Amino acid sequence: MCAKVFTIANQKGGVGKTTTAVNLAAGLAAKNVRTLLIDMDPQANATSSLGFEKKDAGKSMYRAFMGEKLVQDLLLESGRKNLWLIPSEVDLAAIEVELSQRENYLVQLRNLLEPLHASKQIDAIILDCPPALGMLSMNGLAAADYLLIALQCEYLALEGLGQILDVLQQLRDAGVNPRLELGGILMTMYDVRTGLSRQVVDDVKEHFKTQVFKTLIPRTVRLGEAPSFGKTIFEHDATSSGAKAYEQLAKEVIHRFQLK
Ligand code: ATP
Ligand code: MG
Repeated sequence: MCAKVFTIANQKGGVGKTTTAVNLAAGLAAKNVRTLLIDMDPQANATSSLGFEKKDAGKSMYRAFMGEKLVQDLLLESGRKNLWLIPSEVDLAAIEVELSQRENYLVQLRNLLEPLHASKQIDAIILDCPPALGMLSMNGLAAADYLLIALQCEYLALEGLGQILDVLQQLRDAGVNPRLELGGILMTMYDVRTGLSRQVVDDVKEHFKTQVFKTLIPRTVRLGEAPSFGKTIFEHDATSSGAKAYEQLAKEVIHRFQLK
C-alpha cells in the first residue's frame, strides 16, 4: 500500500493546524501507523513542538527543493516509535521566491515526495502548512491525497473556508492534482462552556455533513502549553481531554482512510 499524504492547510492563522499536525501524527504513530510529519512552515512550530530546535543544519525541505538532498535522506528519528520528522529551518522561508521562478512550480513537492509516496516504509505523510496560500501551501496541496482543514469554533468560522475550497477545486480542474480530495474538516478549540461553539459546529455540519470529523478538539490549557515543553499532548498529559480527543481523531482517521 502507498503512503497517504495529508495536507493540513488553511490560510487563516492560529486555528490549530500545527497542534493537529503534531498530535494527529503522534496519535497515528502510537497506533502503529508509520508516520512522517513534514514541517512546511518557516515558523517551524511543528518542529519545536516535537522538541527540536529550529536550526540551520541543512535538514529542511529546502535542501530537497534545491536538489541537494533526497527527501528520504532528510527523515529524522523523532525519538518516538513510528514517527519521523522533516524539520523546518530558517532557509525554508526562501523557497517561496525560489519556487515561483520555476516552471511547474506547483508540482515540485509532489515530485520530490514520489519515492516516499510509493514506498512501503511509511503509511502516512502529514504536511503542516503555513497560514497563507503561497507556494509552500500550494505545493502541499498539489502533493496531497487529502486536504484536512482545521477550523476554529468561533464566530464566522465559515468565512474564508470558500477560498481554500476554491483552490482545491482549481487544482483538480486544472489537472495539477486530480486525486486531491477534501479529507475532512476538524473543529478545533471547542469551548464546552459557551453555546457558540455548539452553534458553529452545527452550522458547519449543516454545510459539510459527514465531511466534518466526529471528533471535536476541545480548547484546553494542556493543549496550549504542550508545545512549550517540546512535547506532544500524549507526553505532556496522557489523561487530559486533549489527549483523548487527538487519540479519538487518530482512530477516526485510521478508519476513514483505511490506514491499517
Ligand atoms: P499558524 O497559522 O500560525 O501556523 P496554527 O493554525 O498552526 O497557527 P496552532 O499553532 O496549532 O495554530 O495554534 C495556535 C495557538 O493556539 C498555539 O499557541 C496553540 O498552542 C494554541 N492551541 C491550539 N489548539 C488549542 C486547543 N485546542 N486548546 C488550547 N490552545 C490551543
Ligand atoms: Mg502552524
